Amino acid sequence: MVSARLSSIQESTTLKISAEAKRLAAEGLDIIDLGVGEPDFDTPRNIVEAGCNSIKAGDTHYGPTNGIPELRKAIALKLREENQLPVTHDDVIITPGAKMAVFAAIQALMEEGDECVLIGPSWVSYEPCVAFAGGKVSWAEVDEKFMPLNLSYSINDKTKVILVNSPSNPTGAVFDRPALEEVRDIAVDKDLYVISDEIYEKIIYGQEHVSIGSMPGMEDRTVTINGFSKAYAMTGWRLGYLTGPKEISKYVTRLLSHSVSQATTFVQKAGLEALNGPQDDVKAMVKEFRSRRDMFVEGLRKLGIKCSMPGGAFYVFADVSDYGDGDQITERLLKEALIAVTPGSAFGPGGKNYIRISYAASLQRLEEALLRMEKMLA
Ligand code: PMP
Repeated sequence: MVSARLSSIQESTTLKISAEAKRLAAEGLDIIDLGVGEPDFDTPRNIVEAGCNSIKAGDTHYGPTNGIPELRKAIALKLREENQLPVTHDDVIITPGAKMAVFAAIQALMEEGDECVLIGPSWVSYEPCVAFAGGKVSWAEVDEKFMPLNLSYSINDKTKVILVNSPSNPTGAVFDRPALEEVRDIAVDKDLYVISDEIYEKIIYGQEHVSIGSMPGMEDRTVTINGFSKAYAMTGWRLGYLTGPKEISKYVTRLLSHSVSQATTFVQKAGLEALNGPQDDVKAMVKEFRSRRDMFVEGLRKLGIKCSMPGGAFYVFADVSDYGDGDQITERLLKEALIAVTPGSAFGPGGKNYIRISYAASLQRLEEALLRMEKMLA
């Protein structure tokens, strides 16, 4: 009944686990949910008010497919100043969430049979987006710090795109300039496109965020994607954007026009306030994430769980192979310790020995989680 194209696409493991955790919590169990992929902070007040005011002012009609000009201008300015991308507002396309931008960019770039390189454990939605386009994923290896290793081994005649996600979900790894230069050199040499998903750009702990699209040679071969979900705790608002080569943007706009139409008009007004208003809440949130990360990684290491220090995002990708594989430990954690995490296998074959733990929970809950883990592993 269901088309082959759609029935090949699996349910998102992260959403499945969070549904299971919610179900158990509804039964009255004290579940610590560390499977979540969103900040545990509320959207800053000034942004909420801007959204409410916009509704009240009557911004409830259709707007342009590629987004309202004021927001495209503000995004273009941000991309020029913070990311050194030489763009104007005409090059910016606003989408209902960065996920739609990822989906649209992959559909625009990939033909049936093309390959997309994913570098090590990667966000759960990339592979289904590639499959939907009729393409295939080629997994590139990473070292113990989740930096690219022998990237050229994963490139062949069918390769069309390399996907870069720094800071990374699920590993928290931040690609430094040399790592990005390696990707750039291969992309230029083999005439490939790069999709750079920079959604965790602001959630970074002291390292520099570099946009690969700003590097020489990358201007006409990079689609840069970003959004408001993580930096401004706006996951439910659904607001993201992309910028890239003009021809690609033209067809992405057509895809939007015949599918989702546009990002919600008053949500875009809230996004404008997010960019133009004070950034104190972002800074406070990142500071809080940083202390949680420091405490939690230290705690895990004390328990003998191996994990590299994540440079960004709000996840620890922990190697649990001393205790079992990631799927087994995920199941035990939920059953025996009432802790929900995500098995590393959800993020591709390289994640088998890992679990992804989100520290988008209070310090107190994270401390409690460490105690429960200690008991479980004793
Ligand atoms: N890219 C990555 C790496 C993500 O983790 C997420 C959210 N989980 C997204 C894109 C999508 O974000 P949005 O809410 O803007 O669709």
